[in-house]
Amino acid sequence: MREGLQKIVSLDETIAAISTPPGRSALGIVRISGPATLSIVSRLFKSELPVEHRRALVGNWVDATGEPLDQVVLTFAAKPNSYTGEDLVEVSAHGNPSVLYRILQSAFHAGARLATPGEFTLRAVANGKLDLMQAEAIHEFVQAQTEQQARTQLRQIEGVASKKVAPIQGELVDLIAQMEAGIDFAEDDVDVLQREVIEKQLEAIRNRLAAVQSTFEFGRLLVEGLRVTIVGKPNVGKSSLFNRLLRADRAIVTEIPGTTRDVLTEPISLNGVPLRVSDTAGIRETQDRVEAIGVSRSLEMMSDSDVTIVVLDGSSPIGDEDESILRRAQPQAHVVVVNKSDLSQAFELSSNGARVVRMSALTGDGMGDLEAALGAFIAERRTDTADDFVLTSARQNEALLRAMDGVSAARTAVAKDVPHEMILLDLYASLSALNEMTGEIVTEDILDKIFSSFCIGK
Ligand code: GDP
Repeated sequence: MREGLQKIVSLDETIAAISTPPGRSALGIVRISGPATLSIVSRLFKSELPVEHRRALVGNWVDATGEPLDQVVLTFAAKPNSYTGEDLVEVSAHGNPSVLYRILQSAFHAGARLATPGEFTLRAVANGKLDLMQAEAIHEFVQAQTEQQARTQLRQIEGVASKKVAPIQGELVDLIAQMEAGIDFAEDDVDVLQREVIEKQLEAIRNRLAAVQSTFEFGRLLVEGLRVTIVGKPNVGKSSLFNRLLRADRAIVTEIPGTTRDVLTEPISLNGVPLRVSDTAGIRETQDRVEAIGVSRSLEMMSDSDVTIVVLDGSSPIGDEDESILRRAQPQAHVVVVNKSDLSQAFELSSNGARVVRMSALTGDGMGDLEAALGAFIAERRTDTADDFVLTSARQNEALLRAMDGVSAARTAVAKDVPHEMILLDLYASLSALNEMTGEIVTEDILDKIFSSFCIGK
């Protein structure tokens, strides 16, 4: 078992939970895992054939008095060849919440207790079936809303993150060992590593860590979505454009709670990447206090977003207000939409560094160009790695940055001829950050951070 986990996770108890969502459905699944699993099954599951590893059996699930609760399909996986690494059964019953609840109760009676959120997965980690990074990916996979999010997490469940980090960890350990040996045996004439050699190795390790870390910008985008804000004068067609963007992707549209009256934010998906699009109140000079609040909110949203869409009305001349909005958008990533292309046009706008899309929110003409322009912003953030690896966990990213800091500090120290004993402190700090990232060092805090957002039954 991993260092630290032994103290935190108690594997003596048998856990049970309903693993399917609440409500009525065709099927519902109760999972039981732990040492008492088979004894619980032998008391509560009645079938003609014996329970065997990896065999699905039809039978009756009964309560403590022997009364049948449901006809179920039971699948058993024996320790250590199961998801949790323990004896594990999945009881697939009819998806009636009260029946599932009674099956669960009967398991409690027979010696199980309710699993905590993510505890099945936590046990999988404790028993070495998964590492912590894979466990995090499983949660993200369940939460994924777009195809690309799901694909990325699936790669991480397969363990690509660990494969990426483990060799770098190994190099760091080697370097530490060599430097330690140099200190321990200095008097015995063991070769002390040359300064240039250490510098070179530190450089290489840092570069490799940086290559992993650089994928996080796209990873964050995959998890949180590209924040896109639509701004412009009143009546240029912002809401029409917003609705058209949403209509293109109606499937996952849900209102995000907590949005104010003057800013509406909705998620959409573009090429499998999530976008969070906000429609803001029109920006203009105003004496009206309520409207002024809306305008300042719009400007705030604009500075908080990854990409701004500045909408102009192509059928009327550009005014001072348009110019002022364009100026504000200038320092940021933005697309200029010249809207109402279906009407006769009042001006020509040269591209001038910005992406300019001429379109009609009314007819939909030119929408493809806008999507391509937004797609380009996503592509800019994508770091291509040969193995499709993308770092998506903020926790892992934070640990990785600490590891990089340690290596950088060590490099500076080497350049200044600081004694190796001192340099090693930085390297150990770096190694321990990497161990936290991969889950080789586990604290209660880390587990809490990861598993508290899991569902019970996962
Ligand atoms: P907002 O105030 O910027 O959100 O603008 P709206 O989306 O409410 O649109 C203002 C007016 O312009 C409405 O009457 C829309 O029907 C109209 N409109 C929006 N987009 C277009 C367009 O592409 N072509 C034409 N002809 N009218 C449009």
